[in-house]
Amino acid sequence: MLLVVMVLMNTYPLIVSEDLVFQAKRNALLSSAAALNTAVSGLDALTEENVGAALAGVDVAGVSRAIVSDPYGKVLYDTREAGNAAGRYVFYNELVEALRGNFALYSVYKEGAFHSSAAQPVLYRNQIIGGIYVYEYDTQQASLLENLSSTLLSISIGIAVLVVMLSMIFSRQLTRRLASLQAAMRGVREGAYNRRAVLSGHDEFTQIAGEFNDLVDRLQETESARRQFVSDASHELKTPLAAIRLLTDSILQNENMDSATAMEFVSDIGQEAERLSRITEDLLRLTRLDSGVAETAGLTEIGPVLERVVRMLRPVAEEKGVELLVVSITGAAAVATAGELHQIIYNLAENAIKYNRPGGYVRVRAEPAEETAVITVEDNGIGIPPEELTNVFKRFYRVDKARSRAAGGTGLGLSIVNDTVSRRGGAIRAEGVSGGGTRFIVTLPSLERGEEEP
Ligand code: ADP
Repeated sequence: MLLVVMVLMNTYPLIVSEDLVFQAKRNALLSSAAALNTAVSGLDALTEENVGAALAGVDVAGVSRAIVSDPYGKVLYDTREAGNAAGRYVFYNELVEALRGNFALYSVYKEGAFHSSAAQPVLYRNQIIGGIYVYEYDTQQASLLENLSSTLLSISIGIAVLVVMLSMIFSRQLTRRLASLQAAMRGVREGAYNRRAVLSGHDEFTQIAGEFNDLVDRLQETESARRQFVSDASHELKTPLAAIRLLTDSILQNENMDSATAMEFVSDIGQEAERLSRITEDLLRLTRLDSGVAETAGLTEIGPVLERVVRMLRPVAEEKGVELLVVSITGAAAVATAGELHQIIYNLAENAIKYNRPGGYVRVRAEPAEETAVITVEDNGIGIPPEELTNVFKRFYRVDKARSRAAGGTGLGLSIVNDTVSRRGGAIRAEGVSGGGTRFIVTLPSLERGEEEP
């Protein structure tokens, strides 16, 4: 673009001014030639004398040279002093052309000067009796034009240098910003999650850097949650494994162990193994929830699921002296698989029994609400301190570690419930019940996707 602009800038004005100058020159030449022609018109033949006399008063200051010749090209009159051609034959192209009866005009710009010439025949009764030749040589206008062209050239060179310099500065700045963004990206890719892109200003790059930083924040959170999860999980697995090793070592090292003690130890090993398998099952369930896309589910009646859960848990409740009350309102249905609903209700109700006291109650209720189903599991057990109400949904989080372990808990039950509920677009919260105890409230959508009213 710069090149095109420069070429245009350096040629167009010059061409136009050159044309204008030529136009003016030609007009001047033609009128001078016409004036000379008028002065000699009426002469029947041209001689040096009569031409000289006829032209004595004619003003030819407008041209550099004027020549009048006879029909053969012999000069009868020449305005030039040095190198006057009077009496000699001249064969300028234009004059030759004029002597053939034509009008001739020629102009050229060369070597810093405008050269223009014009010629026309002198007629007497339609006979060519001679020719008039005028010539103009101008360096003044030419030098003006030369000045103009050199001015234009220096201006355009100045502009070009400026444009090139500015674009270099801008592109360097751009590259530097890009490079710093790229360096931050590379750093993060190589595992430096604390790396951030630092860009000042308010342009698109700063916005991208901001987005990138937000992304890395998320990544860092996820990464630290993942590390925490792995370390918690290994810790959870380590405890029963350590117990199993301890128990086996005791049996192996104690050859005289009576069979009753040995049986007790083996049964403990069995319990620890069961714990291990519970933890791994829960872990697997969570991983599946984390990674998998929810399988498509239709609307499932909650009532039958609730009954099945209660059937399974009633013996446990009875054993603990806890009363299990169930209310299921017809029409309570949620968009989830029966397996998921079972998981949710079972975990909540089992907790309510586990963390209860003899003589306590557990009330499970399922009811339809506006476009949702609400499942409430309430107990008057040991309760959860208010500041812990949100923590209990975290993985491996337990309010009372010893009690949870004694009750066979893994600390993952509520996480699984929480993940299942939110995967189906629902919500769960826990609240304290006056007089002790806890209430878990689960809300699940009961309209299949695409079924929502507009
Ligand atoms: P756990 O396997 O230990 O039961 P959960 O994820 O199911 O793990 O529950 C996390 C913790 O929340 C439990 O350890 C317990 O301290 C507390 N909790 C859960 N449900 C209740 C409840 N109904 N009453 C009192 N505490 C509860």
